[in-house]
Amino acid sequence: MTLTDEQKAALKKLRRKFPNSAVRQRPIITCPACELLDRDQPGAVCAEHEASHCESCGEVFTVAHEHLDYVGHAHIRERLIEADPGWDWEPLGRDDNGNPVFDSYGGLWIRLTVAGVSRLGYGDAEGRRGTAATKEVIGDALRNAGQSFGMALDLWKTQSPRRRRAARPPARAAVKPVDKRDADAIRGTIRNYASRRFGWALPQIDANFTCWAGGLGGETFATAPADLLDRYREHLDSTPDDGADA
Ligand SMILES: [Zn+2]
Ligand SMILES: [Zn+2]
Repeated sequence: MTLTDEQKAALKKLRRKFPNSAVRQRPIITCPACELLDRDQPGAVCAEHEASHCESCGEVFTVAHEHLDYVGHAHIRERLIEADPGWDWEPLGRDDNGNPVFDSYGGLWIRLTVAGVSRLGYGDAEGRRGTAATKEVIGDALRNAGQSFGMALDLWKTQSPRRRRAARPPARAAVKPVDKRDADAIRGTIRNYASRRFGWALPQIDANFTCWAGGLGGETFATAPADLLDRYREHLDSTPDDGADA
């Protein structure tokens, strides 16, 4: 895809670093027992950990947590407007009444268009439902699609991924040949692998793939063909455990 100078200038604005004032911290529980309890009863902790007020994220929470930096919804929208006042998004699927179709996890795939360039994104509210959760899903999807444009990409690249200390992946020889599998199957394999090894969810994979595939104008994780996905899987295989670029 060849971009005009005008498009390039608009998309460059998306990649500008966000000021520290736009960056917030979201707590991520690192103890599986605490996480399970917190799901049923927010703030509940296991026998080994206690809850206390955290100066960093401002939450009363199990002490067994790390922080995930993220840019708030308002700042994301502000940045999109700065880059292209005519930016827009649409859901990938609509039902018979024209409403966006959410998947069984309550997540939503969207197409974000800025300066005439479109990228897919996926948002979720970690299984929560309701009107507030729906707004969170949309914000999350915009943030995720934005990462494929390089927006706030530095944030997830520098932070400590969850479950980084997970077990080593199987040796290369143990990985099955992928010739006969189609692109979707390889995408599934990559998602499992990246989750297990780096603690990456789909947004991180999307963003990492975009970087690896050459940034703007390149293939996205959602649309890449099997051979490219195969090469990406090999690339992940040779990536150091901290998920930094090899
Ligand atoms: Zn715990
Ligand atoms: Zn905290």
